[in-house]
Amino acid sequence: MMDTMINSVILNNSLIEKYPWLYPHYQWTGEKVEDYDYTWTELDALSKGWREAFGELLCEEIQEELEKFDYADKYSIAQIKSKFGEMRWYDNGCPDGCRVHEIIENYAAISGYICEICGELDVPSTDGWIMPVCKRCIKKMSFKDPEAYWEQISKEQFPHTLPLTRRYRRWSSDKDEWEEFVVDLTSTVQKIRKRYVERHGD
Ligand SMILES: [Zn+2]
Repeated sequence: MMDTMINSVILNNSLIEKYPWLYPHYQWTGEKVEDYDYTWTELDALSKGWREAFGELLCEEIQEELEKFDYADKYSIAQIKSKFGEMRWYDNGCPDGCRVHEIIENYAAISGYICEICGELDVPSTDGWIMPVCKRCIKKMSFKDPEAYWEQISKEQFPHTLPLTRRYRRWSSDKDEWEEFVVDLTSTVQKIRKRYVERHGD
């Protein structure tokens, strides 16, 4: 128990050294937590499976972008959570032209296909209470016939592989119409798959 705590303190120290904006803040005042003991960071709010699959990759990309704008010491997270089976990562803003929100949206789109519990890739989501989940984890949940339920959702949601594009619409006041944009997610997906192989072997 003590060892686990010491390990997490060491890990959190190094995380905050690399990503200073993971230092905990009080949600309502935005003030830094006093008497902070490094037993947790803002990243702990990210679902365990997502954190394993891409938590640090996302932090690296955000940090790299913030450094271009000399904003790493000013950036702060407002809230990280899961909503409708996708990651939501809210912050308190970035400088104009900074791509941090685009980076977050890219990972959010991919998160919907990664088991929130263990980090398995290419999974469908439960319906009703939407949550991406793998076959192994579904068996630990309270479904009457997990095997049949798994078959059903994997068939209904086929294919449930990590998406290689993200589409979104934005209102253009110049053209007075909706414009559609397509973002290529290939390089992000490749990084996540590479990380997965490093964790699990081929
Ligand atoms: Zn799983």
